[in-house]
Amino acid sequence: MNKIVITGGTGLIGSAFKNGKKFGSKQYDLRSSIETDRMFQEHNPDIVIHAAARVGGVGANIQYPADFYYDNITMNTNIIHSCFQHKVKKLVCFLSTCVFPDKIDYPLTEDKIHSGEPHSTNSSYAYAKRMADIQIKAYNKQYLTNYFSVIPCNVYGINDNFNLENAHVIPTLIHKCWLAKQNNQPFEVWGNGSALREFVFAEDMADIVMKLVDVYEGTDPIIISNPKEYSIKDVVDLIVKYMEFEGEVKWLLDKPNGQHRKPSSNKKLLEIIGDYNFTTLEIGLKKTIDWFKLNYETIRK
Ligand code: NAP
Repeated sequence: MNKIVITGGTGLIGSAFKNGKKFGSKQYDLRSSIETDRMFQEHNPDIVIHAAARVGGVGANIQYPADFYYDNITMNTNIIHSCFQHKVKKLVCFLSTCVFPDKIDYPLTEDKIHSGEPHSTNSSYAYAKRMADIQIKAYNKQYLTNYFSVIPCNVYGINDNFNLENAHVIPTLIHKCWLAKQNNQPFEVWGNGSALREFVFAEDMADIVMKLVDVYEGTDPIIISNPKEYSIKDVVDLIVKYMEFEGEVKWLLDKPNGQHRKPSSNKKLLEIIGDYNFTTLEIGLKKTIDWFKLNYETIRK
């Protein structure tokens, strides 16, 4: 039986894996090559799922570009090199759709990762992540390793980061609705809700990655996205329903909607794993909100 190690095991995506040993930064600080090596010595994995990263919102990326660069490039470099040194059979490394160029033709496809400058607000994060793709390709070429990256669209679910300063759209809206309900205030949402986004429930993400580990023999990156797009209004309506919020939803029309669509192609993914029955937003949000309500005191906020 293969021994699996999951980095970022305390985070949204890492914690959603059903099997494997999961570690957070308290067990091993992966910015240190010594600590990283210790993890490999102590657990001797056959398969490594590398979901640890320094992740943050636009504000944090603008304020701490050096930290986003340093933390991510050292973690990725250490993990990829340790996988090689410890003869790991398969490594899956998480990139992000933020790595794509700012000016790009949609839908996003795997071949466009390096075809232009990333958005200026998160360029140090994006370049650090892009280098994981370069490093993986170099090791696969020189050492014939069997490593690949995945590029998720928006992921949401249990153990997400609900910090209103730097969370993604779904956890931000859930937290804002909760606060509006507690304080008897309107639930304020930026824009008019028409922007469309692709969302994958974290449990699906983990399940899909394990399917790829089983069947994918290639080494090129793979986008993991849900072909169904939901509007921000769809998301808000469901949050209001599951939060049992009876107050006013106030659409702040003077605030930006964000880009209308950011579609990505999951053609390659589905060619490899076949059709996938994605958890609907209705079910994923219900599970997430039930968990949020039960765990409000201890969630990341
Ligand atoms: P997350 O919830 O913020 O979790 C980050 C994880 O990284 C935590 O377990 C954290 O451990 C760990 N970590 C941070 N610094 C570390 C360090 N120095 N040493 C060891 N571990 C460290 O992130 P996520 O949303 O699950 O994202 C996982 C991966 O998917 C990331 O590469 C991210 O870029 C990518 N991704 C996520 C999304 C999304 O929508 N969430 C979309 C696209 C790509 P502690 O908590 O113990 O510090």
